[in-house]
Amino acid sequence: MSKQTHSFQAEVAQLLHLVTHALYSNKEIFLRELVSNASDACDKLRFEALNNTGLYEDQPQLEVRVSFDQAARTLTIADNGIGMSQQEAIDHLGTIAKSGTKDFMGKLSGDQQSDAQLIGQFGVGFYSGYIVADKITVESRRAGLPAEDGVRWVSGGTGDFEVEQITRAQRGTSVTLHLRDDADEYLNAWKIKQIIGKYSDHISLPILMEKEEWKDGELLVPGDENGGRQPGGMVKTGEWETVNQASALWTRPKKDVTEEQYQEFYRAISHDSENPLTWAHNRVEGNAEYTQLLFIPAKAPFDLWNRDKKAGVKLYVKRVFIMDDAEALLPSYLRFVKGVIDSADLPLNVSRELLQESRDVKLIREGSTKRVLSMLEDLAKHDQHAAPAADAAAADAAAADAVTDVVSDDDKAKEGKYSAFYAEFGAVLKEGLGEDFGNRERLAKLLRFASTTSDAANVSFAEYKARMKPGQDAIYYITADTLSAAKNSPQLEVFKKKGIEVLLMTDRVDEWALNYLTEFDGTPLQSVAKGAVDLGDLQDEAEKKAAEEAAETFKPLLAKLKEALKDKADDVRVTTRLVDSPACLVVKDDAMSNQLARLLKQAGQSAPEVKPVLEVNAEHPLVKKLDGSVHFHDLAHILFDQALLAEGGLPEDPAAYVKRVNALLV
Ligand code: ADP
Repeated sequence: MSKQTHSFQAEVAQLLHLVTHALYSNKEIFLRELVSNASDACDKLRFEALNNTGLYEDQPQLEVRVSFDQAARTLTIADNGIGMSQQEAIDHLGTIAKSGTKDFMGKLSGDQQSDAQLIGQFGVGFYSGYIVADKITVESRRAGLPAEDGVRWVSGGTGDFEVEQITRAQRGTSVTLHLRDDADEYLNAWKIKQIIGKYSDHISLPILMEKEEWKDGELLVPGDENGGRQPGGMVKTGEWETVNQASALWTRPKKDVTEEQYQEFYRAISHDSENPLTWAHNRVEGNAEYTQLLFIPAKAPFDLWNRDKKAGVKLYVKRVFIMDDAEALLPSYLRFVKGVIDSADLPLNVSRELLQESRDVKLIREGSTKRVLSMLEDLAKHDQHAAPAADAAAADAAAADAVTDVVSDDDKAKEGKYSAFYAEFGAVLKEGLGEDFGNRERLAKLLRFASTTSDAANVSFAEYKARMKPGQDAIYYITADTLSAAKNSPQLEVFKKKGIEVLLMTDRVDEWALNYLTEFDGTPLQSVAKGAVDLGDLQDEAEKKAAEEAAETFKPLLAKLKEALKDKADDVRVTTRLVDSPACLVVKDDAMSNQLARLLKQAGQSAPEVKPVLEVNAEHPLVKKLDGSVHFHDLAHILFDQALLAEGGLPEDPAAYVKRVNALLV
């Protein structure tokens, strides 16, 4: 193969431009990305070699070597991992294969700071080299291919790249960065070691650098190389030393890992620029033996709602990397969790199909789900608002007592974190009600909602129950598209009048999720937009009597309304739930709510046609005027269409509605 020139895929060209501009303030991450690629390449080799030990050739010790050449101004990251064939170099270094690339590009705002964060999340990988280099040369040979089938890939990181065949005895890949003029600092062993320590200490492979010596034989003391002497006085010794800890972070005992190391590890595996909210690191023994290191992020990724989104947990078996996005390890409603699970029981050659069926995986999945839920419960417990008042008083009393250290610094650090978590991931968590029956009760306790007494989504079912009125026997809620639509819904009028709290649910998933939760701790959940209102003991005798009488005297009018609206309404009845509004729509107890039906239609799915029930307020002047009016037919339709508008719907025939209203106005 002679030298060929290829163009970058359009998205790569765009990304490259952004990388060099937006990530400028955090240059050093390029080294993390390239070392991480090298480490992945070694993981891949180890995995493929499980079935073909020949791939190791004569080098079973996998490693990464970092070296630099001050005269040539180059920095090289070399690995003896799986390597790339010519075609792989063209495909992998010229295109972005990741799902969601388009999504990602669409989210970019042009604002450098926020884009830089987003790019970090997306993981720029190889292309980050161009932050510090104006030319990159990659030489590689795939393990198992003959030496003549090596490849050299060269590009200045703008429109195109060149590829040619080379002979390369060494298996694996070396990436050589031709540094920009302002990137001198990376031609310094101390600086490189410092960055490796910061970002790559958890990498399980040894990262080697050539030892340096002063010309007079005095060894370089880290951090002290500027003691009046110039780095030019250093000579390479030809001896290589390991500069990282080279033991996978999760395999170390908890007490040997610092908070910063956990955070750095999280940032490396998640590409998140923020620290995680919390994490749990445990060795589990018993029916299944595994180590879990699970993180809960502080911010939702841009593709949380993307249906092809990869799961965030990496699977290792006895420290050998197996796969990146093992969705079998956690249920999909916990897809925001990042981390590592290292099993001692699974076979090394486990496939995705096998994972789905494995009994060990089932145990890991159950154990990890419970672990995540208890992390969340712990955060909720320490969130000021979420803690029941009685506990807070007890904690105050105990804190006053110098002997008992109830509120540790650690606990204080958790304050406010649950609300932060919930704002980002609450809606995803709700999917669990339908997905994970076994943990439904635990999940229900973790849910928070806005209510007629709190605009912030921080009311738990338990808190609601504690505030229930004497005689109230249900947890009332309403679903709507927005908070203000929910708050102003006519269906709430009687509840407001009587001072009964109603939970306001405005996440798209609420309606669906609530199908799976009919009660909380023995108290039924009742939508105020479903079925007839039965306030039970909350209504006094006089109110009940008035309602019965109204139903009786309105019978003939209701019959006429029903006839006039027979194509629109399933039934027409008198209600006591309204105070100020003339009418509202409700659905029968077992029917799909109007809101859910609308959502399904918007999503292009078929929803069963359910005709709602029109409820009228016998006390309202408009309703009183209806009987005997010459405009009865028009008024009846206006009444219905307005009830629909009030809950965020649209009349079936908006033009007809406008015509009717205008006729009356004139
Ligand atoms: P990512 O690593 O997130 O997939 P990159 O842009 O960093 O994205 O790399 C793209 C692809 O190039 C990788 O998926 C891998 O197939 C290949 N690649 C990069 N670096 C190496 C390497 N050191 N050895 C082998 N393949 C590599």
